Amino acid sequence: MRALGIDLGGTNLRYLCLDHTRRIVARGTIPARLGARAREDPQAAPSLVVEAVRAALRAVDSVDALGVAIAGFVREGVVVASPNIPGLVGWDAARALEEATGIPVRVHNDASLAALGEAVGGGWDAPLVHLTLGTGIGAGFYDGQRPWLGAHGTAMEIGHWKLARTRRRCGCGGRGCLETVASATGVVRSYGRPRLDAAAVARLADAGDAKAVRAFAQAGEALGRAAAMLALALDPAVITFGGGMSAAWRWLRAPLEDAFRAGVPDALHGQTRVARARTGAEAGALGAALFALG
Ligand SMILES: [Zn+2]
Repeated sequence: MRALGIDLGGTNLRYLCLDHTRRIVARGTIPARLGARAREDPQAAPSLVVEAVRAALRAVDSVDALGVAIAGFVREGVVVASPNIPGLVGWDAARALEEATGIPVRVHNDASLAALGEAVGGGWDAPLVHLTLGTGIGAGFYDGQRPWLGAHGTAMEIGHWKLARTRRRCGCGGRGCLETVASATGVVRSYGRPRLDAAAVARLADAGDAKAVRAFAQAGEALGRAAAMLALALDPAVITFGGGMSAAWRWLRAPLEDAFRAGVPDALHGQTRVARARTGAEAGALGAALFALG
């Protein structure tokens, strides 16, 4: 039994193949540019995804199960919202990919699968909450057996908790969502120079730019309050922070830990830990492969 996990990003497709002992036997990245190509021709998006999945399958030896992680909302294999790859809404991804590949396919939200990947790949105790800090904020809860999906497959959309101390507009249509200050995009908005990315703002902070330090402090403080709420609701063993912006952990950590401690009653201090994630950009593909293994 071998399972291939695929994380369908807007820019890169990451894949990772596990054998029945959960050993990684292959991994790689395909620069599929699905986001840009689907924006040019949204109607072609499903066939572009099928083509990219076939390319990943060709890159590995035969597999018996396929797991696919997609950003957005996925309900029983059907894409309900897809911010990174336009043109997929309403598409029954699981069924279409099964028909195209002839192997069983399980499709789910990338952040939930990343939580599964981080829990197993990072060697953490469960339960675990994993936050992916990227363009937005994804979150997943792994209870020790499986990722918690909720009644409709849309659990843990905490990027839209209204706990920013601003009224910034969010892509969801609301204002003041966590991800408007605490995602990579949010940090760039706080810094006020849209052409930069979060890594550039982190380098400015390293160079002593007070505004850059404040942008990360604002993000870290909001993440710390969110982590405290998660700890109170779910009592996880650990809350991990991954995704591209976790590379700036050195600037997030202190404000995050301070706000986390302040948000948790004294009697519960020392229970839930907060930590930088260990599996890096591979969490989603690893989680998808584990999900496919069942
Ligand atoms: Zn929102």
